[in-house]
Amino acid sequence: MQPTPEFGLPPLRVGVAGPRPSQSGDQPGTVEFRYWTLAAALSGASALWAPFMPEGVGWHSTVGDTLAAVPDAGDDLNAFYDRRHLNFFHHTVAGVTVYSGESSDVSKHECGHAVLDALRPQLWDAASAESAALHEAFGDISALLSALQMESLRVAVLTETQGDLARSSRVSRLADQLAWAIRQVAPTAVEPDCLRNAANNFFYRDPVTLPSRAPAAELASEPHSFARVFSGAFLRALAGIFRQQQNRDPGGLAEAVVISARLLAAAVLAAPVVPGYFAQVAAHMVAADQELFGGEHGPALRSAFVATGILSTSGAVAVTPETVAPHAAAMVGTVHDGDDTLTSITIPGERYGLTEAFSVRAPAHTPRFAVTSAAADIGGVQPAGAEQAAAAFVEDLFRLGRVQVPEEHLTAAAVAVDGPTTKTHTLTRSDAGGLALTRLCFL
Ligand SMILES: [Zn+2]
Repeated sequence: MQPTPEFGLPPLRVGVAGPRPSQSGDQPGTVEFRYWTLAAALSGASALWAPFMPEGVGWHSTVGDTLAAVPDAGDDLNAFYDRRHLNFFHHTVAGVTVYSGESSDVSKHECGHAVLDALRPQLWDAASAESAALHEAFGDISALLSALQMESLRVAVLTETQGDLARSSRVSRLADQLAWAIRQVAPTAVEPDCLRNAANNFFYRDPVTLPSRAPAAELASEPHSFARVFSGAFLRALAGIFRQQQNRDPGGLAEAVVISARLLAAAVLAAPVVPGYFAQVAAHMVAADQELFGGEHGPALRSAFVATGILSTSGAVAVTPETVAPHAAAMVGTVHDGDDTLTSITIPGERYGLTEAFSVRAPAHTPRFAVTSAAADIGGVQPAGAEQAAAAFVEDLFRLGRVQVPEEHLTAAAVAVDGPTTKTHTLTRSDAGGLALTRLCFL
């Protein structure tokens, strides 16, 4: 790969692979346009998160100092982060060639995966629908907040929503061009007007109880689908924090963007990886607000997480100065756990027609706050155990055709390992000799 020029802010330097073209590209579909659109989008995402990286923490070690984007890695309707690069693709649909790297939303989403991987590397291999969905939500939130760092967009969105940020707007609606292309081949896979919309009405359900896939109008445990519960809550929280600003103008909105980004970064750094991960991250945002802002935004955060069922009402009121105090040092966004690995569990190979059993990482940290998400009727829902959550996640991967299985591990009865679906996971021989399910990429 060509050496890449550097953009963005340390420690999150970004670059675009290939020779740097002249700055004259304003025509979509050209090499110049792709290059400079990517450079601008990734610089924006870098600038959003760089101020909240703990001392000494940068991109995952396999990425290096600069996260490089490959503007056109081949024919696909896709984009992914693989712990080395951000990869973007092109595909022609109905006579129109769509480049995923031409979408600021898509590139900022992918960059979000890399940022969260830097903050919380344990999530990479965690076999958990909720932690995978949080990764997708973090990508969507990166696109949302990064867009709002632009003054012109803040002005436009405040007009469009009449000051109520929780309404559907050009920033809540993600990636309309890629969505158009997907709609041509899979009409119910995306929203009518975008890929995903953070202004939504989804209410939390334990993903273990949800189907593996569903049309865009319904919730599934598939991570991009389930992510919408968290991004929906985050948009409501952002709207609430904005309402609290002294100046409800583009300047006040810029403040709300920085506050909400800081709280989310602090929360994902500290939140343990558990089956009820959304509730833990939400509680950690409330706790971080107590430590960083004296609890000033507690009402906005609690309302947003209760409205979406991510916190039960009893969970929301359980995060108090008294319960946070023993953990205060971990709440301010400066402590990085490194790569402490999650416990392995074993999944029988015959369940999927494989020659032998394989191990996966279960979301088995110890919860910090005694909070749960909401039940559909009253109170909280007891989350699935770590082993059940891991097994359900693996089941989803096979049902969705996401696992790449080397030929020698297949029996004639192997299920769902064929087809063109992009593989996110693979089975590899671990140092200890057994097979392990490991992640290849986040889409
Ligand atoms: Zn993603």
